[in-house]
Amino acid sequence: MMTPQSALARFYDLWGTLSDLRHAAEVLEWDQLVFMPPGGASARAEQLATLRRLAHEQLTSPAMGEAIAAAEAAVTATEADRAALRVARREYERAVRLPAALVVEQARAASAGYHAWLAARQAGDFRLFAPCLQRLVALARQRADALGHDGEPYDALLADHEPELSTAVVHALFEEVAAALLPLRQHLLEQPAPPPLGRPGPEGEQAQLELGRLAVTAFGFRWQDGRQDRSVHPFSTAFSPHDTRITTRLSTEDFAEGFFATLHESGHALYEQGIDEAWSRKPLEEASSTGVHESQSRLWENQVGRSQPFWEFLLPAARRVLPAVFGDRNAWEVYRAVNRLSPTLVRVEADEVSYHFHIVLRLRLELALLHGDLPVDDLPGAWDEASVQLLGRRPADLLEGVLQDVHWSGGDFGYFPSYALGNILAAIWMAAARQALPDLDRLIAAGSFSPLLDFLRRNIHRWGAWYTPAELVRRVTGEDLQAAPYLAALREKYGALYGV
Ligand code: ZN
Repeated sequence: MMTPQSALARFYDLWGTLSDLRHAAEVLEWDQLVFMPPGGASARAEQLATLRRLAHEQLTSPAMGEAIAAAEAAVTATEADRAALRVARREYERAVRLPAALVVEQARAASAGYHAWLAARQAGDFRLFAPCLQRLVALARQRADALGHDGEPYDALLADHEPELSTAVVHALFEEVAAALLPLRQHLLEQPAPPPLGRPGPEGEQAQLELGRLAVTAFGFRWQDGRQDRSVHPFSTAFSPHDTRITTRLSTEDFAEGFFATLHESGHALYEQGIDEAWSRKPLEEASSTGVHESQSRLWENQVGRSQPFWEFLLPAARRVLPAVFGDRNAWEVYRAVNRLSPTLVRVEADEVSYHFHIVLRLRLELALLHGDLPVDDLPGAWDEASVQLLGRRPADLLEGVLQDVHWSGGDFGYFPSYALGNILAAIWMAAARQALPDLDRLIAAGSFSPLLDFLRRNIHRWGAWYTPAELVRRVTGEDLQAAPYLAALREKYGALYGV
């Protein structure tokens, strides 16, 4: 018979091993994307598969199930222990519901799907990808049914990223935002666009790096607990609050590309650096959700980095480092240039107003695919139609259309909403921060970011996975998740920028 205290200790001990296995796999993945020579690929695939398998076995073992149950019964459990156990119970239940054969089958289909997607892109022929996608949709549906749901299979997939948020709530929220933004976007696209920033040229890469580091340092990124490297696609990862990694991609064509990628990824890393150390190797060490994670990156990239006060702060340094681009610009002109609306149909190039429509388009199609209302063969046509309706234009080819994102090729359904949720949440946090810090703009213009970072630390970062996204919103604002702050922020910003 175990004493209550040893039940908790036993649970944390098992979970600590799980955490170590996961972080070890993440170190290998980071290395794979940043430093590994191409020849290392097949050995690395084996190493990762082994670590992932061990982690899965650790999570789903009978010992873990018993340890969670025993710890739940422990009378000495604190509130933090109870929160950790809620997260552990949620993860454990989902993992044990998935049959091992389905997990293996999904991994196989994802690998085949990725290669078929590449081939289809290269050939410009969707039919090369269609059979794999059909298989991936069927498996996603099986996965949803295995995980369990109340008639809406998408709920089960969404829960991979957004705990306890329903499809109905997300769908209604997104459609409300889309309906409100559609006329605004159309109107803005009819106005003359502000002049873009000039081409940075060969000095541009070093300048993006230098100004990015300057900004991120001012934000409060702890370099002794993090580093930055280059990679093909910018990303961030963290192995503990004291070891966070970000990457960026630099461009000689477009200053904004590498610079804003650094700001974006640093927002993710600031979140990880702020999670309470007491949760390390415990269930609460994770983020609240993918959308909450994304809200941190988008807050620093868009709400801060694409604001006029921020450019008042950065412009003297920008002029010194890259006079060809910034020499004759004032803060207002840079502010206008970095917020220019773009008619692009490519999600990753979208501006702040257009971005939402890219996600609504994908959510509608994912729901139709998963519900069996849209055969995979009809997907390219449905995509093009939705593109006309939401973005005003038909894609010129598959790369601008249905084959632009990698997600579906890996069977990743239910991921896209977190991006749009990140934008909506970022605006909610920023509105709350402005209430708490009425002179926030003046602080930002003076390069004083610690009051904002402290606000985020106190209200969001330190809690890790303690609260679900909806709970966090209620705690920070006293209200439910809603679109109003996001719509208000966009209307105010773009109204002023375009003089409408
Ligand atoms: Zn991100």
